Amino acid sequence: MQTTTQSTEVSATLIADIAPKIHALKKTFSNGNTKVFSWRVAQLEQIKKMVVENQDDIFAAMQKDLGRCDMESWTAELGGVITEVEHSIKNLKKWMKPRKVSTPIVAQPGKSYMLPEPLGTILIIGAWNYPLLLVLSPLVAAVSAGNCALIKPSELSANTSSLIAKMVSEYLDNDAIKVVEGAVEETTELLKHQFDHIIYTGGDVVGKIVMRAAAEFLTPVTLELGGKSPCIVDSSTDLEVTASRIVWSKWMNAGQTCVAPDYVLVEKSFAAPLISAIKNKITEFYGADVANSKDYGRIVSERHCSRIIKYLADQNVVFGGNHNLSNKYIEPTLVLDPSADSPLMQEEIFGPILPIITLDNIGQAIPYVNDREKPLALYLFTKDSRFEQQVLTSTSAGMVCVNDGFMFAANPNLPFGGVGNSGTGAYHGKIGFDNFSHLKTVMKRSFWFDVPLRYPPFTDKKFKLLKKLI
Ligand code: NAD
Repeated sequence: MQTTTQSTEVSATLIADIAPKIHALKKTFSNGNTKVFSWRVAQLEQIKKMVVENQDDIFAAMQKDLGRCDMESWTAELGGVITEVEHSIKNLKKWMKPRKVSTPIVAQPGKSYMLPEPLGTILIIGAWNYPLLLVLSPLVAAVSAGNCALIKPSELSANTSSLIAKMVSEYLDNDAIKVVEGAVEETTELLKHQFDHIIYTGGDVVGKIVMRAAAEFLTPVTLELGGKSPCIVDSSTDLEVTASRIVWSKWMNAGQTCVAPDYVLVEKSFAAPLISAIKNKITEFYGADVANSKDYGRIVSERHCSRIIKYLADQNVVFGGNHNLSNKYIEPTLVLDPSADSPLMQEEIFGPILPIITLDNIGQAIPYVNDREKPLALYLFTKDSRFEQQVLTSTSAGMVCVNDGFMFAANPNLPFGGVGNSGTGAYHGKIGFDNFSHLKTVMKRSFWFDVPLRYPPFTDKKFKLLKKLI
């Protein structure tokens, strides 16, 4: 049976309703209710309940938006939200505690600590490729830290957007958590208002718009962007497992994953066996006729589908290449040695095409990566621990996985975020809690033993003594 999608227009929030929503959230925050531990835990539990009880509706919405199968949606989105909720509930008491640090002799007797306090009202702007995860996972962090939040899901995944709006209104504290649906006009209106933090997930062009708008209010931002994530395959690797893991991480969600391997770097002599192993895995996973696989998704919109198809012009397609614009289908496709100047290698692909770049020597992968913008993720498949260390210490990337795809995303103890052009800031687990908290510096001094050394009138004797102490 062919996978089909059902595009629909987002039901946008009235522009006139946006400012009152923001004011209401700010008022709630000033009441202090969201700072209380029990409120935070109750909302976290409700987020989990909301996802679990509505899973069939969520699967259906994602099927309509992205033609994605239920198991992929569960693994990549619902499961991720539930993991974040459970991890936060388990650790929240500890995270909220004052964090003691030592106090130097000049400030003795005294105590020093950092007191995590919520920032206020957080604006969460999500992207369409994982439409639930990319707003609920930041929400878990924002709520854990005791904030109010306004969620703006992507208009491109309109079915999931309207379901999120419905579920949030039914399950969560609507005085503290609200949704604004819409596209550019509504987001532009949102950005005219002052928030206490903005987390944006999406492309870098809009990332700059968000950062400029935030600068007007000196609002801190977390930018979860994308870029071209390299996948370096060394010939010492386990070929079979490597091929499985590359195919899993590249073609999940039809290649529309911010941390999907964007291209492979491999030594010339190892390219043929690698390509052959990848082809075999694609066929094993999705069958000989991928268009009829129930496990393979669709491109989110015709515009994105045409954008990706254009990348194939004048390329050496060694596998796949079939597409059907009306069904927003693009076959898993391998391109051998595209020119570095071609749009395929200049832009983030964000679709099911995998370029294989061959090198004379795998060591050349390091300068190849370093000559480009810092990627969101970097993958390395190798059994050579010296080469592993060389890659880890000589390249920069938001996140690295050695010998797998984006499994780091499954660990809430690890920060999720980019570096340089691939983003700024990070979240998940405690890092997310800290991201939406201010670690307030607190020092408490005692009244007894008030050393007069620092007070005027200053003398040479005092100065000499002070130099010894500091
Ligand atoms: P998108 O089109 O859904 O846009 C993201 C958000 O920006 C939406 O909510 C949209 O309404 C808003 N927006 C769009 N144009 C705007 C404008 N002119 N002014 C204000 N707001 C505007 O998503 P996209 O940009 O196509 O997302 C794809 C990109 O996101 C890729 O680069 C991908 O790598 C990246 N991404 C990153 C992560 C991450 O966690 N780092 C996750 C998913 C996607």
